[in-house]
Amino acid sequence: MAKIQSSKYVFCLVSSLILNLISIRNLYVGSNWNLSWSSRAAREAETVAAISCSGHGRAYLDGIVVDGEQPVCECNSCYSGPDCSQLLPDCAANANGGDPLFLEPFWMQNAASSAILVAGWHRMSYSYADLSVISQELERHIRKLHAVVGNAVTENRFIIFGAGSTQLLNAAVHALSPDNSSSPAKVVATIPFYPVYQRQTDFFQSVDFQFYGDTSLWKNTSDTGKNLIEFVTAPNNPDGKMNKAVLQGPNVKQIYDHAYYWPHFTPISAPADGDVMIFTLSKMTGHAGSRLGWALIKEENVYERMTTYMSFNTMGVSRDSQLRALKLVQVVLENRGKEIFEFGYKTMRSRWEKLSKIISLSKRFSLQEIASQNCNFFHKVRPASPAYAWLRCEMEEDKDCYEVLRGGNIEGREGSKFSAEDRHVRLSLIRGQDDFDMLLLRLNKLISEEDGDNYKTM
Ligand code: PMP
Repeated sequence: MAKIQSSKYVFCLVSSLILNLISIRNLYVGSNWNLSWSSRAAREAETVAAISCSGHGRAYLDGIVVDGEQPVCECNSCYSGPDCSQLLPDCAANANGGDPLFLEPFWMQNAASSAILVAGWHRMSYSYADLSVISQELERHIRKLHAVVGNAVTENRFIIFGAGSTQLLNAAVHALSPDNSSSPAKVVATIPFYPVYQRQTDFFQSVDFQFYGDTSLWKNTSDTGKNLIEFVTAPNNPDGKMNKAVLQGPNVKQIYDHAYYWPHFTPISAPADGDVMIFTLSKMTGHAGSRLGWALIKEENVYERMTTYMSFNTMGVSRDSQLRALKLVQVVLENRGKEIFEFGYKTMRSRWEKLSKIISLSKRFSLQEIASQNCNFFHKVRPASPAYAWLRCEMEEDKDCYEVLRGGNIEGREGSKFSAEDRHVRLSLIRGQDDFDMLLLRLNKLISEEDGDNYKTM
């Protein structure tokens, strides 16, 4: 009887082994998975990626479809036609917005490692298993990223995600403002400053906070006990300066906006350790469209108030965006960030060198000066590689520098948009290569037309 039992057992074991081997063989073909539900999506993604837009545009999975076929090419500014091959002759160089497409070639080179495929049933819930709205894996990777880059202290800091850093800017203003006080917090920033600080603060018309302009106006009154919230943007948008806190006092709080504190744009001199620090994927990986920013917060009550703001506002950041961000940060962390930051720095540095060379031929225009500095990430001294040029029109009569550039078919952003003089214009250097090339072409022409006296020779 025992013998029959044991041969039955052996039979079952062998059959189970054979079945397992057959199913494993079915899953593999050679060394490849025999994919089931994902192969159609993968094929679709690769088919669209293969659409040629002459290198001057791109087709996307969710692009407009004409005649029921494939999505059409979306052309870069100054290019048109079904495959984006036609250069528009009189087109203005677009140096206006801060779309960070300078990193697109990096992601094309890393298409395989950065791709994700999302099933229809993926994370449909409002929350993660721990009932939070934050991916623990993404949080862990972001902390690791700061440790590797050395640009921020994350120990003993809370972390909160926002729909881009834009959402977090106001969440932070709310959290740092007094609750139910008879005197609202005064929100200030140092001119030239990123206009959204003022626009957002004005827009929300809160009884708890109001925008009060330039920081310097409050320098001498900052220790009088007034509630002040100071935006400190480092590096600064538009001029790339590493701004520092100006105000001091028992009721002064700072919001450090470190959107550009990455090795692409500035040497990393020390880990930032402000009480409220805001970062964004937009200028780190270039994925502005994923709308993912994060804040590192020291004090628990500030963290709690920002969390409340987020839960009333959007109930956290899209889980799909968090998944995508996780994949991108994982790729950034391969080789401890060397590849992307080397690529980003080289691109920004070469753009700055080319621009500086052209501007040095002009008596009419000048650029901001940014000193070289040791970078603890690259372990060497790095010269300037800013995200924006803060161009100045030097001639007495050129008070409206924006119009001067428009005359040369260049679209920048007016100095007054940054609460500065219109003698300044911001030129974006982080856009795609076509936009940057067009900017150089138009500037070259404009400067070569300066009258003989003004035109410097090399
Ligand atoms: N802060 C600064 C200084 C910026 O320049 C920007 C984007 N231009 C932002 C915040 C907002 O970026 P996002 O909402 O894409 O994170």
